[in-house]
Amino acid sequence: MSEPTIFTRILQGEIPAEIVAETENAFAIRDIAPQAPVHLLVIPKTQEYRNVVELAAGDPALLTEIVGLANSVAAEHADGDFRLVFNTGAGAGQTVFHVHAHVLAGGLNEKSTG
Ligand code: ADP
Repeated sequence: MSEPTIFTRILQGEIPAEIVAETENAFAIRDIAPQAPVHLLVIPKTQEYRNVVELAAGDPALLTEIVGLANSVAAEHADGDFRLVFNTGAGAGQTVFHVHAHVLAGGLNEKSTG
């Protein structure tokens, strides 16, 4: 078993975070260091997949669930339009190797990648 990631620890209630939505296999939190007026993270409950490429190959239905949850939190917390960013690999800025979607929304006028 690998060490629990920070997102697993949040899900288990060991680290405080604002969980804004939850589905059977995924949950959404507010990013602690927002890069946009609305910056949420949508995260599978399993930490089995390190990045979106592994998730797409291993469980496409779960990737679809992530996209659907991103859409619903963007509708609830902003006007419904959003950017969905998956940083993939350390060279692209990924720091937590438990796949998560950055949902960036709310008055986006400048390029922002989370
Ligand atoms: P980056 O840190 O470059 O954005 P990632 O794409 O791996 O890399 O994103 C990890 C995200 O998790 C960051 O946006 C970071 O602000 C967020 N984060 C880290 N710890 C917490 C926490 N305790 N609660 C909410 N968000 C967190």
